[in-house]
Amino acid sequence: MSVKSVLRLPPLPSIRDLVKLYRLTAIKQLSQNFLLDERMSDKIVRAAGKLEGRCVCEVGPGPGGITRSILRKGASKVLLIERDSRFKGLLSMLQNACPGRVDTYWGDVLSFNMSKLFPEEATTPWDDDRLPPLHILGNLPFSVATPLIIRWLRDMSERTNAWTYGRVPLTLTFQKEVAERIVANVMDTQRSRLSIMCQYLTEPEYKFTISGSAFVPKPDVDVGVVRFIPRKVPLISYPFPVVEKVTRQIFSKKRKMSYKGAATLFPKVIRNKLVRELYSRTDVNPEIRPTQVTIEEIGLLCKAYLEVCEEYPVRDYVNRAYEAEDQWETKYGSIYGYSLSFR
Ligand code: SAM
Repeated sequence: MSVKSVLRLPPLPSIRDLVKLYRLTAIKQLSQNFLLDERMSDKIVRAAGKLEGRCVCEVGPGPGGITRSILRKGASKVLLIERDSRFKGLLSMLQNACPGRVDTYWGDVLSFNMSKLFPEEATTPWDDDRLPPLHILGNLPFSVATPLIIRWLRDMSERTNAWTYGRVPLTLTFQKEVAERIVANVMDTQRSRLSIMCQYLTEPEYKFTISGSAFVPKPDVDVGVVRFIPRKVPLISYPFPVVEKVTRQIFSKKRKMSYKGAATLFPKVIRNKLVRELYSRTDVNPEIRPTQVTIEEIGLLCKAYLEVCEEYPVRDYVNRAYEAEDQWETKYGSIYGYSLSFR
């Protein structure tokens, strides 16, 4: 028997019929919008690139339309993470139809650790030209898409979670406007914190738009499909929380000159002095808008910010104890303590 015929799916009732039969109405709180059109599921899966013989983790499979497409594309194994246990019947039907190729994990993807999910032999060194034979794919719930990608970017930067296996690529859906922000270039009005965070760690590519009318129920917005390939060398070499904080504050006043937002990195009492000090250590023009600041310039501002935090112990200026801020503090020491505690 050829590999192709082993991987072929046996005849199954359509997802549309199964959703009707099992009376699976969408739950709004879980951002459920089902894709019942097989050709569209196939198109999303094609955007991921070669999946034959690979292990794929799918987030939020719901009734399993995209899962079927992944299996048809020849993935050797599909690992599903789904929160809504109403899909147990449908997904176990798929599991039985493809023995040994589908495993389902029930829970919240936001707290799910993939560091032991894939076979160890799939690990590929980070600086290898080849990517690991793994992929993360999902028609994400809108409500978790942005916090999830930020969390995964951080994991990528620390090479934890799925990225213990190397540069695992992702293909994900977002609200179209969010997807456009992810890939927006410098000078683009859509340029945002998300553009910087995604682009300094990965090469995101906007693949195509899906009309909202392809989903049931129809969401108010269209959907964009983005593929991310983690970079071998991030464009900024400073720790993720520092990049995240500097970027967030600069973009907090998106329509003003960038130094206005950057000033909020510091406590009010010494804000003016320290923001001048910050820019004087770089050749970044403080008067350009946040959307005009390049990733390289954000890197220079991160470097200057760390120097300023070290040289001007902010705690001496304001009588305020800093609160411990998760493991980053213990890992990277007190300078981040001063800075991260002032939001
Ligand atoms: N993949 C299916 C499709 O394309 O038809 C369903 C997509 S629907 C937009 C999002 C799916 O993610 C739902 O099945 C929902 O139950 C699931 N989901 C929502 N929040 C989740 C979370 N925090 N962790 C895991 N799955 C979640």
